[in-house]
Amino acid sequence: AKQERRSHYAFFSEEMQACAARSLLLEGALREAVQWGQLDVYYQPQFDITGRKLEGAEALVRWRHPELGFISPAEFIPIAEITGQIIKIGDLVLRRATQQMRHWLDAGLPGDMSIAVNISMAQFRDTALLEKIDTALAESQLPPWALELELTESVAMDDPEQVVDIVRSLRSRGVKLSIDDFGTGYSSLSYLKKLRVHKLKIDRSFIQAISSAGSDRSIVQAIIGLAKDLDMQTIAEGIETEEQRQLLEALGCDSGQGYLFCKPLPASEFLPALLEFSTS
Ligand code: C2E
Ligand code: CA
Ligand code: CA
Ligand code: CA
Repeated sequence: AKQERRSHYAFFSEEMQACAARSLLLEGALREAVQWGQLDVYYQPQFDITGRKLEGAEALVRWRHPELGFISPAEFIPIAEITGQIIKIGDLVLRRATQQMRHWLDAGLPGDMSIAVNISMAQFRDTALLEKIDTALAESQLPPWALELELTESVAMDDPEQVVDIVRSLRSRGVKLSIDDFGTGYSSLSYLKKLRVHKLKIDRSFIQAISSAGSDRSIVQAIIGLAKDLDMQTIAEGIETEEQRQLLEALGCDSGQGYLFCKPLPASEFLPALLEFSTS
């Protein structure tokens, strides 16, 4: 047993070393990526739950490294959060996304549509955040309600006093706010009421299992009920099947996003895809 344990230990230690080495490699490569413009922004459309009306799009960062290939944000965003690189990346996404939104409005997409940008913890703590948002809106000449910030539940629940203050100033500007991956963290209901964000984004994990009988459907139902009580909108993420969509519509969910409607697209493919969508 002793020997077994040792080999077990050796296995984990090697794996951990490999993991640390990869993180270090990515951290260095990411610095160059920001500098050399290897980062791109994709956009995933968001629709009303029937799928007929375009309501917005979520900006999702993409990284294609010349040698390492495509690296998922699920892998590099956590690293960027630890190293602080997320500030520069977040600035880039915010500027790119608001400019893109300006082009789309000029091209005739619905004037009430909004562009959703993910904001991570470090960005939220950045004292220059409000100024950066004002600048991005001014440069792209967008009304504040055309911008929506997605905060994960953990960001929103961290340091309540500070978060409530920042959320208040964003709201007073008219910028929209949503709580991302809702249902996966631990929100206190009284706090949620105090925050008064516009939208709850129901996490994909609940949508996946919604068709099979079980507790996930009641969780989704409870989230939608809660949102209605608090005068908030709901959007379901990761809708992949028509069955999921129909169930969500029946439960009273307002909006949806997912492969059923459309996958995230580079800016150049967004308009053509929507044209095809509206004529099919
Ligand atoms: P998220 O904010 O929850 O974004 C939704 C993720 O679900 C995206 O993955 C999207 O491509 C994927 N997705 C959309 N529809 C479906 C579907 O129907 N089925 C499935 N299986 N997946 C779907 P992506 O782009 O790989 O991003 C992963 C995460 O990385 C995001 O999760 C977000 O937390 C983070 N991220 C991405 N871009 C940014 C960014 O610009 N800033 C920050 N701070 N985080 C970002
Ligand atoms: Ca998001
Ligand atoms: Ca999400
Ligand atoms: Ca999610």
